[in-house]
Amino acid sequence: MRFFSAVTNTGDERGREKPSRRNIIKGAGLAVGGLAVGAAGGAAAVAAVPDGTPKSAMAIPVAGPWRPAHGHVDVTWSVDTSQKLVALTFDDGPMPNWTGMVHDILDAEKAKATFFMVGERAVANAKIIHGRMDRHEAGNHTWAHKDMSRLTHAEAVDAIHRAHKAIAQITGKEPRHLRPPFGQLGGTTMSAAGQLGYDLTLWGIKMLEKTYENHPQGLVDYIVNNVTPGTIVLAHDHGNPDRLVALRNLSKMIQGLRAKGFEFVTVSELVAASGPPAQAPQKPSRSPSPLTGH
Ligand SMILES: [Zn+2]
Repeated sequence: MRFFSAVTNTGDERGREKPSRRNIIKGAGLAVGGLAVGAAGGAAAVAAVPDGTPKSAMAIPVAGPWRPAHGHVDVTWSVDTSQKLVALTFDDGPMPNWTGMVHDILDAEKAKATFFMVGERAVANAKIIHGRMDRHEAGNHTWAHKDMSRLTHAEAVDAIHRAHKAIAQITGKEPRHLRPPFGQLGGTTMSAAGQLGYDLTLWGIKMLEKTYENHPQGLVDYIVNNVTPGTIVLAHDHGNPDRLVALRNLSKMIQGLRAKGFEFVTVSELVAASGPPAQAPQKPSRSPSPLTGH
């Protein structure tokens, strides 16, 4: 249920040194600059495509072989673990009133979470999260929440890198998980994330605010009854007022899940708790394959 790897690139001997992800990201400023030059060279071809047209996943705007620092990405929407661990995630903030309320609840419950922040909102609302991220993980939700499947590779790299710098500076934490806006994995999302050493994080269950807007206990029950070990929960600390039903009932969800033995961890902690991936020749026989029916 866990990972998806794409784009292996093992031809580069320098890659054997396996640089740390942090160093990759720190060095990314140079890479972005180099790509910007390349993008200018490819501008004519890009301009012929109408705005909004999904880009090819490998629309790399440079001539010649492409050797990113990190030639694959992991995409996680749920983690295989027998431990009763769950990761709460909050997207699109920080936002006045909303994000502070989430922090107040998480503080009161002593629960950890991961905030996938929009870079420009983190800059505009830095005061809201100042001093409040110690226990939590800072994730990257790009600079301006544009659909990355419709960006060029250079634009996608810039959207991630700009947000990375802002979030790291404001929170004091280097994000290493990217949640692409709209959960969109198409276009150059993966190549840009891979270049910057990021992993991609989606979710396994989300708050159904519209469904339960006028039935808060139904939403609490839905979450408490459907979280399983390794679940990543999607919530938002930004958006339409109907989303507030989830935040206002967050305490009840946390208490309900704790009563069932669940512990709240960050996305990185959840991923670290994953069991080893099944070896290809030793596929688990406990459950039939949903693809083949046997
Ligand atoms: Zn979003």
